[in-house]
Amino acid sequence: MTDPLAPGATIGILGGGQLGRMLSVAASRLGFMCHIYEPGAHPPAGHVAARVTTAPYDDVAALTAFAHSVDVITYEFENIPTAALDLLEALCTILPNRRALAVSQDRMTEKDFLTSLGLTTAPYGRVTDSASLDAALARIGTPAILKTTRLGYDGKGQARISTPEDAPTALAAMNGAEAVLEGFIDFSHEVSVIAARGVDGSVACYDPGENVHRDGILHSTTIPARLSAAQRSDAVLIAARILTALDYVGVMGVELFVTPRGLIVNEIAPRVHNSGHWTQAGCTVDQFEQHIRAVAGWPLGDGSRYADVVMENLIGEDVTRVPALAQQRNTQIHLYGKADAKPGRKMGHVNRVLRSLT
Ligand code: AMP
Repeated sequence: MTDPLAPGATIGILGGGQLGRMLSVAASRLGFMCHIYEPGAHPPAGHVAARVTTAPYDDVAALTAFAHSVDVITYEFENIPTAALDLLEALCTILPNRRALAVSQDRMTEKDFLTSLGLTTAPYGRVTDSASLDAALARIGTPAILKTTRLGYDGKGQARISTPEDAPTALAAMNGAEAVLEGFIDFSHEVSVIAARGVDGSVACYDPGENVHRDGILHSTTIPARLSAAQRSDAVLIAARILTALDYVGVMGVELFVTPRGLIVNEIAPRVHNSGHWTQAGCTVDQFEQHIRAVAGWPLGDGSRYADVVMENLIGEDVTRVPALAQQRNTQIHLYGKADAKPGRKMGHVNRVLRSLT
């Protein structure tokens, strides 16, 4: 793909959850069609996209037909099976690129990549059995966190090790999967930078947001984050460095721990990010439009912020608060069209505009 996509072109999106849904809305505002590929029935993105393919990621015929029907492929989650990506990539451009996916799919590869850029991460070590866990604990110490290297999200696949006696239980919780031991970071708070890079190599970062997690799931993002001017520019420079090193095209979420010794990179997500939903109420071009602009080869939009915003996720039964939230004049409501409000399920979010800066 060399020329910018013209309105009317079709953007393929792997994954039909709420991120795919909001990407589809943004794409349709720019005049594009979206084709969603999603194994699960009734995907939230299916309500708003022009076309949906319901098929598993090992269905060669469905993947081939999907790739032939679109002008570019992007994705809303990073754990796409490698074989599916190999097949799709031979037929169509995938943005962000495979390297970004390879780096973010594996916590060990991710940490090696980040440290190779001179960025600071938690001290870490590869764990495959009790001997390597003991060795890593001897080096890193406690408290620490053991995490599966692959397929972890929202705090899943993680076990805390407060004292060395916790090691066997933590290792058993990995169910035989390869893991990484991370030293526990005594951070004051967590922030994230939502950053975008265009095909021309230009980078646009949104103002960092401050994130609060509950039970391992993002609860809220507050903009502006509590950061000094130096920390703020550090955060943005870290994000720009990562995107440029990956020759990245699209939006990325970069999660950082704030400590007295500086910013520590927790993890990166090569996609639009839950902690970037505030941009829908705080910026002229939100993260979803920004991502679609980038993968379509369009110029990036202006990421400047014109309001103070608090984004709060509506998780499980939180969604019953919607009638009351609808009474609040400063509150923008987003619902994902999911039928069952199961515990821990992201049903929607609200953006509260606290102060306009214009
Ligand atoms: P993750 O899935 O790796 O982003 O972890 C989920 C959450 O667990 C993070 O947002 C932090 O609140 C916490 N956490 C993860 N790793 C560490 C660490 N090395 N030190 C302290 N807290 C951590």
